[in-house]
Amino acid sequence: MTRASPAAAPRGPWPGPELAEEAAWLVRLPHRVRVYEVGPRDGLQNIAHPVPTDVKVALIDRLSGLGLDRIEAVSFVHPRVVPQMADAEAVMARVVRGRTPLVGLVPNARGVERALACGLDALNFVLSASESQNRANLNQSIAESEQAFRESISMASAEGLAMRLTISTAFGCPYEGYVPPERVLALARRGAEQGAAEICLGDTTGMANPGQVDRMFRMLAAELPGAVLAVHLHNTRGAGAANLLAALLAGVSRFDASLGGLGGCPFAPGATGNVCTEDMVHMLHGMGIQTGVALGGLIEAAREIEPLLGVRLPGQVIRAGIAWEQGPGTA
Ligand code: ZN
Repeated sequence: MTRASPAAAPRGPWPGPELAEEAAWLVRLPHRVRVYEVGPRDGLQNIAHPVPTDVKVALIDRLSGLGLDRIEAVSFVHPRVVPQMADAEAVMARVVRGRTPLVGLVPNARGVERALACGLDALNFVLSASESQNRANLNQSIAESEQAFRESISMASAEGLAMRLTISTAFGCPYEGYVPPERVLALARRGAEQGAAEICLGDTTGMANPGQVDRMFRMLAAELPGAVLAVHLHNTRGAGAANLLAALLAGVSRFDASLGGLGGCPFAPGATGNVCTEDMVHMLHGMGIQTGVALGGLIEAAREIEPLLGVRLPGQVIRAGIAWEQGPGTA
């Protein structure tokens, strides 16, 4: 049996426009979504060997011209806890600024001080919905993290910086298992009341299924009308694209993803692989949903960064190629 090469894949009229019209009418899918690239932070922090500052800078600069909504460039978690991100200041001093907004992850007020000194464009505060994971990840209780969030957001807003709140392990915890949705809702509500610019739910270890994603986002939308919602999915158990579709159907239009599917969490056993940015953009564009992202540029960037990182990226479109030559965003 011969295997068709990607170059020999069938090419023909792209079915997107009809699909989009039909789908929008049927289920009111958003026509445009925002893509938040987390590869330079979530992706790189899970690589076991130290990644040189030069490679990090090259990755961020390569991503900056591609039309992404924001890029999570660095983390200000203590270097002892996440050694891979210890050079955050050096990275920020060297990246080209002014194209795509660059975001820094912060877990506490000390992180905000470091981020402010680097001139980040926005901040992402992370806490966990699971007590055990919060302790493992941030060495403090959830209540202490919430106190840190209140301090951090007042520091950020005094400087005019937007801060999003990411609630990790929102769909399940590798230590505790079940995470009550009511707990996630309560954290989200308090975050929104404190002025979080966006509330993101993280499936940190890829435990979610589409049913959970649907229920959780419908609950949040009903309980917190007006809150800006986002989702951070991992493809650990292969449900990434299905969960993405469930979130879209539930009205979410902001998605985290990582170039090449790079990613994980050093404190969450088995948490490999964010949803892959170019695979996600490929699927969305095929459905007629706009992202503003240059898909061809993303694929090139993933292919270029793979040998520099010395890892095999789990992304699939970089191997198979774009399915339809025609259609939006393939340039
Ligand atoms: Zn993650």
